[in-house]
Parts: sequence; structure tokens; C-alpha cells
Amino acid sequence: MWYDVAIIGAGSAGLFAALELTRSALKVVVLEGGLDPKTRTSITTGVGGAGTFSDGKLNLSSKIGGNPHAIGCTSTELEGLIERVDAEFTRCGAPAQYSGENVEDLATLKQSASQAGIEFIAGRQRHIGTVTIREVIDTLYHDLLDRGIEFRLDTKVGAIIAEEEGFCLDTAHGAVHARHVIAAPGRVGAYWLREQARSLGVGPAFGPLDIGVRVEFPAELYESIEKIMYDAKLRVRTSTHDDMVRTFCTNPRGFIVREDHEDFVLVNGHAENVRKSDNTNFALLVHIELTDPVEDTTQYGRAVAQLATTIGGGKPILQRLKDLQQGRRSTWDRVRRLPIHPTLDAVTPGDISMALPQRIVLNLLEAIERLDRVIPGLAADSTLIYAPEIKFYDTRYMVKDGMETDLPGFYVAGDASGHSRGIVFSAVTGIYAAQHIVAKNSR
Ligand SMILES: Cc1cc2nc3c(=O)[nH]c(=O)nc-3n(C[C@H](O)[C@H](O)[C@H](O)COP(=O)(O)OP(=O)(O)OC[C@H]3O[C@@H](n4cnc5c(N)ncnc54)[C@H](O)[C@@H]3O)c2cc1C
Repeated sequence: MWYDVAIIGAGSAGLFAALELTRSALKVVVLEGGLDPKTRTSITTGVGGAGTFSDGKLNLSSKIGGNPHAIGCTSTELEGLIERVDAEFTRCGAPAQYSGENVEDLATLKQSASQAGIEFIAGRQRHIGTVTIREVIDTLYHDLLDRGIEFRLDTKVGAIIAEEEGFCLDTAHGAVHARHVIAAPGRVGAYWLREQARSLGVGPAFGPLDIGVRVEFPAELYESIEKIMYDAKLRVRTSTHDDMVRTFCTNPRGFIVREDHEDFVLVNGHAENVRKSDNTNFALLVHIELTDPVEDTTQYGRAVAQLATTIGGGKPILQRLKDLQQGRRSTWDRVRRLPIHPTLDAVTPGDISMALPQRIVLNLLEAIERLDRVIPGLAADSTLIYAPEIKFYDTRYMVKDGMETDLPGFYVAGDASGHSRGIVFSAVTGIYAAQHIVAKNSR
């Protein structure tokens, strides 16, 4: 069957591209490898993508989540698209309140960060929470069905083949033909897309990588900051290596979770609506870009993840800060005597310096010392460090206006494009691609 547009992946990029296309008369199909929001059990696969089981922190600032200039979007256009995404989430049931709006409080936090040599990126945020985000995505999904968008679930695309006029998408349930394709398979499908893009002659470049740890500490330490900005973005330039280390995905009273991959394990974190822990956690990540002779950040990141998984005996590694500083491994005995209890216990107490490169460990230790001046108590002996946390944004496509690649009609969107990191910016790239297709078809 022929469609005007086939969208691969129903994550936030795919859903918002579909929503934008409902404004046109184009015939659209969404091909999604997973199930609907209420039936799915996979963390990464299914309608809503990786966002459905996240805690739905919406970053509503043009400075967070991607680089608008790399996709040819002006700041004004981007602000408008962010407003649209936020309005849709609200329409579908996201809670009304924001954080990060009080200008005076933000200025005070910025001042104390600056005094410690830390950059604070202020921005408006909306926190939806783990239970509600699933409901919100389900409402959006049914809204799209009601507006005539065709979804084919449990339909993983195998190969993308260029045809004389458009593309053929091969699936286990038969071939789908479309004049335009928006490929938005998320991080889970990024390497699959890389193979498909190469065979289509659309060569992606290697993008940067973030490698680090999850830091967990008593929730009281972050309470005053949480009132100002729920997920405060703090960036440190380290003294020894002049590298950039940033906090990411802060979860007040949240939980550490384990991310299982084919041949390694990683850690992540989330905060729930109802169930609360006594701890707060955030990712602390070192930004890595590789140049000649090794540009392949994927291979580097995977090698680090595999080594850490080997050292952890197949589980993430947990170490108290004092042990990491003193170069000795942690043991369950020492961890159990701490005043703080880990929220993830399927871990191996061990030595993170055996698993992560020395430069990364040094960067992390220096950053924690510096951050302690903004979050007093963070550098306490008992602070818990989990490894590894790795963010693979390691494939980036050259795109023209509207996320179109060099191959006419072939668009990329969301995290797999290498141009977004998060729910809102992914949605923005999806809308941007859809707008371009609509404009092209109305000429
Ligand atoms: C635990 C966790 C917590 C997070 N918390 C937050 C947060 O609080 N705030 C935030 O902004 N971001 C958060 N993120 C990141 C956020 O979820 C992603 O940035 C966002 O979902 C990316 O959207 P996307 O549409 O690009 O891809 P995804 O959401 O990953 O969706 C891609 C979809 O494509 C499908 N797919 C893949 N390959 C194929 C194929 N070959 N054929 C058909 N379908 C395919 C997948 O099944 C998936 O459903 C979190 C991520 C995780 C894992």
C-alpha cells in the first residue's frame, strides 16, 4: 500500500511528527516495533518510546536538549515549537505547574554557581512523573487514532530500500511504500538506522559521547535547589583536563534503575509520582569527542561499558565516594554501615577506577568537589556512586532545513538523528520534519 509519509518509530519524535501531519491531507502511517502504551512492558520500545517509562521531565528551554542551529532552526522558531509541544502535553493531561520560573531565585542560584566556577543553565521545566506520563502518552496516541493516523504496532521495519519514487519499508507483515520517510527509531534503533542510512548512501558522522556515573545522596541536600529548578543543569570545566562535566536528569526522591543492553549493563534514574525514596540522584557525565585516529565513539563507549560490566560481574558497580577517592573497592559491609541506603541493590560493590578511564574518574572527582559548593554535603564520604552511565549520542546526520538528509524524501528525527537529547527536543525535530514535508507538498 502507498502512503505519502511513513514514520518509523512512535517515540516523541514520531508522535509529534504524526500530530503535525494531521493538519494536512497527507496519508500517513506510523510503523512501531513495540506495543501500545498500556500493553507494553519494554522500557525503550512501544508507543511513546523511551519517554513512556521515564518520569517525564520536560525541558522547555532552547538551551537544553539539542542545538537548534545544527538543524537550521532559528531560536524564535524553536521557542514557538517548544511552546507547541508543551501545550500538547498539557492538553493531554500533564500537570499545570512549572519549575524554574522564579527569576529572583534563579539569579541567586546562578550567583552561587558562578562563585564556585560552575555554569548554571536556567530553564523552565514541567515534571509529569512516571505514572502520569504513561496516561498522557496514551491520551495522545488515542487522539492521533481519532484524527485518522494509522498505526501499525508490533511492526519492526527491517530494511529501507530506495525506489524510483519514494521508499519501500520491509516488515514481517509485508512491505510498506511511501513517498517520504521520517526515520525516528530513537536510541534503541540508532545503530539499525546507521546501517540502513549507509546502504541508502546517507553517511552519518560520529557524534560525541557522554560517559560517567549516577550520584546518589540524601534528598535533603537538594531540597533548596529543587524548589528553584527541579532538574538544575550544572556544568563544570575541570581544572586538570579542562573537560566539561555536567549534571543530567536529576531525580529528587527518586530511584536508580538498571538498563540492560545486549552485552553490557548501564545505570539510569527516575522519580515516581507516588512512591518516593529518601535519596536524590543525578547523572554526572563527562563529554567526550574523539578525533583522528579514532573517531568511532560507539566503539569506545561500548568498550568502556563492557569493561565495567565485566568488573561488576554482570551488574552495575556501586562505590561510596570515600572509597573511590582513596582507591579502594567498596564492600557490602561498608555500604551497609552508611547512613544512606542505595535504591538499587542489584549491584556489585567494587572499584569504579578499575572500570572507567583514569581521565574520566579524575574529572568526576573534581566535579563532585566543585559541586559540593552549590550542593553542600554532596562530597560527603557516604555519597554513593554507580557506574557506568553512558549516553550514546554517537551518530549524527547532516541535515538540511526540516531534518531532510541529502537523500530527497528521507528525513531523520529524534535521538537517532543525533540532534536531540530528550522528550521535548525530539518532538521538535519530528514537528520540524513534518512541517517541511507539508510545505513541500503544498507547493
Ligand atoms: C529511563 C529513561 C528516563 C528518561 N527520562 C527523561 C526525562 O525525564 N526527560 C526527557 O526529556 N528525556 C528523558 N529520557 C530520554 C527520552 O525518553 C528520549 O530522549 C526520547 O524518548 C527520544 O524520543 P525519540 O522519539 O527520538 O525516540 P524513542 O522515544 O526512543 O522512540 C523510538 C521508537 O522507535 C521504535 N523503533 C526503533 N526501531 C524501530 C524499527 N526498526 N521499526 C519500527 N520501530 C522502531 C522503538 O520501539 C521506539 O518506540 C529518558 C530516557 C530513559 C531511557
